Amino acid sequence: MTDIKINDKIFRKSITGEEINSQISRIAASIDSDYKGKKPLLLGVLNGCFMFASDLMKQLHIECEISFVKLSSYQGTTTTGTVNEVMGLSESVTGRDIIIVEDIVDTGLTMQRMIETLNAQKPASVAIASLFVKPARLKVPVDVKYSAFTIPDRFIVGYGLDYDGLGRNLPDIYDAVEE
Ligand code: 5GP
Repeated sequence: MTDIKINDKIFRKSITGEEINSQISRIAASIDSDYKGKKPLLLGVLNGCFMFASDLMKQLHIECEISFVKLSSYQGTTTTGTVNEVMGLSESVTGRDIIIVEDIVDTGLTMQRMIETLNAQKPASVAIASLFVKPARLKVPVDVKYSAFTIPDRFIVGYGLDYDGLGRNLPDIYDAVEE
C-alpha cells in the first residue's frame, strides 16, 4: 500500500501508470477504427486532460489535430456546480468531427456545457473520450463513448489530476483516504 500526503490529505495508490497506458491503447485502437478516413479534431479540456491527451494522441495512427479549451468547476475536492470558461475555443468546429478529451466526468456538467457550446457551431459529430467516469455522481446524462475506467465516488489525484493544484505530476492514480 503506497500512501502519500498532499497538503492536509492522505492519498492511496489505486491505479498504476501501466494500467492507464493499456487502457489508453484500447481507446486509441477504437478511435483509429471508428475515425478511419476522417480527420478528427481532439479537443482537450484543460488543465486535467494534458497527460491523457498527450498519451492518447501518441497512440493514434489516423490523421488528427488537437486544440484545447480551459474550463474549471472544482475547488479543493468538491465541485462548485458552476462551470467557468477560462480560455475559449480559438478555431471553428463547424463540419468537423470532434473528440472531446476529458480527464474525468463527475457530475457531467462540464461535458453538458461543452456539448451545448460545440453544437451551436454545427460540428459533423461530437464524441467524448474520458479517462475516468464516476457514474454515481452524474447529475445530467452524458454519453461517454470512450472511457478508460469507471470508478466509485472517490476523489482522485495523479496523472494530470490535482488536489489544490498539486499532484498532477504523479504517474499513477491515488484515491483520497477518508479519515
Ligand atoms: P464535472 O463537471 O463532470 O462535475 O467535473 C469535471 C471536472 O471536475 C473534471 O474535469 C475535473 O477537473 C474535476 N474533477 C471531478 N472529479 C475529480 C476527482 O476525483 N479528482 C480531481 N482531481 N478532479 C476531479
